[in-house]
Formats: sequence, structure tokens, C-alpha cells
Amino acid sequence: MKRLLMPFLLPLLLLIGCAKAPITGRTQIMMVTPQQEKAMGFQAEKEILKKEKLSTDQALIARVRRIGMRIAKATELNLDWKFYVIEKPDVANAFCLANGHVFIYTGILKYTDNDAQLATVMAHEIGHAIAHHVAEQVSMAMVTNIAATAAAIAIEHNVKSSTEEAAYMAALGLGANMGIVLPYSRMLESEADHIGLMLMAKACYDPRESIKFWKKFAKKGKEPIVYFSTHPSSAQRIEQLTELMPQAMKIYRQSGCEKSVSAADSPL
Ligand SMILES: [Zn+2]
Repeated sequence: MKRLLMPFLLPLLLLIGCAKAPITGRTQIMMVTPQQEKAMGFQAEKEILKKEKLSTDQALIARVRRIGMRIAKATELNLDWKFYVIEKPDVANAFCLANGHVFIYTGILKYTDNDAQLATVMAHEIGHAIAHHVAEQVSMAMVTNIAATAAAIAIEHNVKSSTEEAAYMAALGLGANMGIVLPYSRMLESEADHIGLMLMAKACYDPRESIKFWKKFAKKGKEPIVYFSTHPSSAQRIEQLTELMPQAMKIYRQSGCEKSVSAADSPL
């Protein structure tokens, strides 16, 4: 079986590109070019704008842009930043596309008491953007697919009956999802929390507000739990944020934030 896999894995290993995530310094698999990444983002953006209703609340749009741009400035990256507000009061969600454009659903606003708590959500999404997480996930899917194909060919050569083959294939698909895809998604989510926390501190939003936001978000009951699909639990998020808090507070204090900006900024 090992010998059968080698011809497939060798070119795969040569194909894999690497990148480094900002702030955490983690080595990433990257098989998508920046051009492909942008094109994927713009395609998805077109589709979303076709089907979602954007908010017309000018004050809210301005607030989301102001917070977004303040965090974007902390990234020190001059990207084509865009922040959209989708009018969907029953959806407590936010996401970022491959081109770095961020979408906030109005449903998440009821969990944010102040700008710093909304900044928690936005800094998390900007964290995904600057770490190119969408491109990394696509790269990971490509690698998993190639590896699964290689393993499938190996299985084909090793199993006796087609029933046995089908069972192996099903286990392979389920295994790839449970063992690789989901933990990988959760790891990217934790990384976006990590990057987001440091960015919000640098942008002078009190990082301690992030924990307050997640505690409140954890209590939300019946609503669809979109934000949590493939995501770590709130308890895990809070645990990680608590661990990273001394580092974030150091950044916050070093930036002289406590003097220049009130802790939670303007309330809703
Ligand atoms: Zn996320």
C-alpha cells in the first residue's frame, strides 16, 4: 500500500506551497495564488450581493466601517478593505471572503453592547482576511482530495470485493471530514480569535471586552448556531482569550490607549 501511494504523494509534496500566518507565525499550506484568491472572493461577493439584502441604516453602516477601518489600520496592510452590513436580524453571524471583504449580519448586533464588542467580531474576521484563511482552506481541501484519491487508488488495489471497497471509501470520506477538515477549521477559528485580539488591542479597543462578548454570545439559545459550525465552543474561545489577555493588555497599554480612548468607546 505504501509503495502504491508514493507516486501520488511525491508530486503532491512538491506542489505544496508554504506561507506564514501573521502574529501567530504558524506555517500554512498554500496552493492558491493571490490572483486566484482575489478572483474567488469577488465571485462569492457577487453571488452574496445578488441574494442578500444590505442594510440601509446609514448610521450603522458608518459605524461598522469606522470600526473596521480602525482595525484595518492596525494590520498595517494597505488592502482593498470593504465592510458590508446584511439586514438579517435573525442571523447572528459574520464572515470574511477570500478577497478580505467582511460581511456583518445585523443579528449579531444585539450581542454587542459597545464598539469594542463589535470590534471583537470584526477583528476576528479581519484576522481571517490577513491570514488568508479561505485560500488556506481551499489549499487544504485540494491536498485532502489528492491524498484521498491516492488512498482510494491504493484501496482499489488492495480490497477484494466492491462492498469492502465501498466501506473503505465511506470511512475515508468520513475520516477526512471528522479527522482533518473539522479540526482544521476549528484551528483556523482559534487563530482568527488570536490575531483579532491583538489587532483590537492595537486599534485601542479594550481587549477585555472580547470575553464579555463571547460570554453573552454563549448564552444565546434557540437561534441558528451558524457562527459555531466547525467552530470551537465559546468556553474554548474564552479560555484561549484569557490565556492571551496579558499579551493583549500589554499591546493595549503600550499604545497609550487607556488615555486616548475610553475603555469601551461609544455605547450602542
Ligand atoms: Zn471565524
